[in-house]
Amino acid sequence: MNTIIAGLQWGDEGKGKIVDYLTESADFVIRSQGGNNAGHTVVAHGVKYILHLLPSGIIWDHKTNVIGNGVVIDPVGLCQEIARTEGQGVSITPEKLLISDRAHVVLPLHKELDAAREVALGEHKIGTTKRGIGPAYADKINRSGLRMADFTDPDYVRERIAHRVVEANDILARYDLPTFEAAAVCAEVFTAMERLLPHVTNTIPVLHEAWKAGKTLLFEGAQGTLLDIDFGTYPFVTSSNTTAGGACTGTGLPPMAIQRSIGVCKAYTTRVGSGPFPTCDEGLSAYLHGLGREFGATTGRPRGCGWLDTVLLRMACMVNGVTHLAVTNLDGLDAYDTLQICTGYDIDGTVHPLPPARRDLWDRAVPVYETLPGWQSDTTACTRYEDLPPAARAYLDRLAALCGAPVGFVGVGPDRAQTIAV
Ligand code: GDP
Repeated sequence: MNTIIAGLQWGDEGKGKIVDYLTESADFVIRSQGGNNAGHTVVAHGVKYILHLLPSGIIWDHKTNVIGNGVVIDPVGLCQEIARTEGQGVSITPEKLLISDRAHVVLPLHKELDAAREVALGEHKIGTTKRGIGPAYADKINRSGLRMADFTDPDYVRERIAHRVVEANDILARYDLPTFEAAAVCAEVFTAMERLLPHVTNTIPVLHEAWKAGKTLLFEGAQGTLLDIDFGTYPFVTSSNTTAGGACTGTGLPPMAIQRSIGVCKAYTTRVGSGPFPTCDEGLSAYLHGLGREFGATTGRPRGCGWLDTVLLRMACMVNGVTHLAVTNLDGLDAYDTLQICTGYDIDGTVHPLPPARRDLWDRAVPVYETLPGWQSDTTACTRYEDLPPAARAYLDRLAALCGAPVGFVGVGPDRAQTIAV
């Protein structure tokens, strides 16, 4: 059975642990969108691996890992990640890591263009990670990007980069940001490409053969549904399709190659960066931060926290075709006495079950809450669904009913063993 794992909120849902849990039985682990702005932490054999572009299967000996055509690759960043992971004793061979020849390349100048855009937007800034992901995808859609395959023709690449540097410098100079020299950009990128090119191949037939041969494929989603370029809280979104459809367009496998869609969400909601967050709650934020939870892994910045929002989850379950929910961080609510679940948005007196598209309506959306009793007991040692306190099960059952998808997994702690399969 082939599975996609998608985040249902704004990222940071704990996809890494669910991916890790399912990687064990997978033959192929595949990334289909995003860039090194994503990332998660996998702990295995007592070693902590921080992965951004490398699929999680890389830390296993006999799994094939694919970076699909829908991903944008920062060659310098990927080389550093490979070196760091190899330094932890992981071998990364061309047999183990396949990179699509159609994947687009993030150039050093894309990162500065990201910064320039944020400066230009001022108070309307998106809050991007400034890794150049948005500008690289913009070049792709603009039909001016470079793909991994292009680097087999250095003269063509040099000419394209020279052209792109002139355009970029024009913009960067306007914002007093560092400008680029084409020769230096080429030197940096070509050096990185020497390490990467042995991995670059046409991944489409490889994946199709694996599918036809009945191999188990795992599609590792990055970011979350509310950051999807089409279904997210536009314009506060990322530049790719983070939802299930992205697994197809980002790999060249058709929809019928995927039978299971696991949607990962926290038992509450968190968000970093700018944009709407109707169920944000100061009390819950202070409580979770007080427990030392919900600080950004790389930035250390506190995430905004709020009540579970089933308006968002309902749409996320629809667009991802979620067959199983994986609810993580249930343990975060262990000690809270009374819990709220948002069931709809009241906008000007009418209750809406789904999120709006209009930005002004987001600003006027007032969450409608249902109140549920907390369980006020420790769930971190529970290994079976039946072990969970009745109030915790009632909370999960209500969540599932409101979202229209059954709960397949529950996370009660960061450890791999703290994952309950329902
Ligand atoms: P991703 O961005 O969705 O891939 O999120 P990560 O996989 O990086 O998860 C963020 C953090 O949450 C990691 O440190 C995980 O160990 C931790 N985590 C995941 N699931 C749970 C859970 O059920 N309970 C607790 N307490 N922590 C969890």
